[in-house]
Amino acid sequence: MKSATIFIFLCLSFYANSQKSKYVLQSEVDINGFKYQTVINDPLNTRIYKLSNGLTVYLSSNKIEPRIQTRIIVGVGSLNDPPGLTGLAHYFEHLMFNGSNKIGSLNWEKEEPLINEMSQLYELYRSTNDSIKSARIYYKIDSVSQEIAKYSNPMELPEIYVSMGAKFSAYTYYHMTSFDNLFPSNELEKWLILEKERFSNIVPRAFCSELERVYEEYNGNQSRDFGKAIYALSEELYRENFHITPIVGYQNHIKRPSVKALLKFFDSYYVPNNMTLCLSGDFDYARAILLIDNSFGKLPRKKYPDFQINQNIKPKDLKERVVYGKGSEYLLLGYLINNFDEEDRKSAVLLNNILDNKIAGLLKNNLIKSKKEKGQRKKCGRKNTKHI
Ligand SMILES: [Zn+2]
Repeated sequence: MKSATIFIFLCLSFYANSQKSKYVLQSEVDINGFKYQTVINDPLNTRIYKLSNGLTVYLSSNKIEPRIQTRIIVGVGSLNDPPGLTGLAHYFEHLMFNGSNKIGSLNWEKEEPLINEMSQLYELYRSTNDSIKSARIYYKIDSVSQEIAKYSNPMELPEIYVSMGAKFSAYTYYHMTSFDNLFPSNELEKWLILEKERFSNIVPRAFCSELERVYEEYNGNQSRDFGKAIYALSEELYRENFHITPIVGYQNHIKRPSVKALLKFFDSYYVPNNMTLCLSGDFDYARAILLIDNSFGKLPRKKYPDFQINQNIKPKDLKERVVYGKGSEYLLLGYLINNFDEEDRKSAVLLNNILDNKIAGLLKNNLIKSKKEKGQRKKCGRKNTKHI
């Protein structure tokens, strides 16, 4: 080994609920009759609401700066990618910035049939393996996309954020997708109108150009050895139970996306009872929850697909996998922890750091120590072979 870096990967369940939490919750009612809970002795005075449509809201007011940080978390990620369409959750996150039939459209009557045509063309494109046919369909997709561009401005939503003085970002993880904003506190009402609109309906009008961006990310990921090692490790650990696939997706899946599947994904998972809204900053609790109830509170509750992770995966024999990459060699160790809850998570993080925290740790220290000792014994051996 040229050099050895050790990563410990203690894993399992993303969804288990804590049974041993020591937090004590108390219930209260605000001046407008909204029920909420607080954690006793919480220094941030966070209020936790559950609106009638199932939306969870966390509010933490502080007046240090006249700004508000927000995070909208949807309980869906790459683990929910449909079969044959890895990367879909992440791709969808990109499309969430394209706007709706109101934001981003210059002429919805003209744009809508073109969007439908593009969607059908992509289905056709997905269904053929003939390279000449594929090229012809893609040529048609390209010309329809150019037509769409005449009737839309997919940058309108980001431009509005900028005009509000907001900073915005988003990311997709295995089990969640998050949309974050930081904006001046006097823009709260406007921000809620915008966000309610984009979480009500989305229009994938910049489908082709977002695909290019996703490709760029895919190409960037290709050079990361750590990613390859994680996927190999997940194959060994979880086996047939589930498989962590690259969040950005596999190339052959990204190449053949489905607009239809993306819209179904939105319809299925982007529902208020599968979402959490977090606000922290300069606002009044009573006014903020009233505004949220008048916007996000109007989204209809819907049943969303159940996703169960097997909590009792039987570990099989210890397996070793080798993946090759450009960087120096390193070792990644993974352990399965079944029936994982919040207390287990804390213990696992602590144990992870004791074993290895990327700087030191028992495993790394012992490995280096034993290598040094071996080296010393070898030195010794050269002088006196009897001691080996
Ligand atoms: Zn991305």
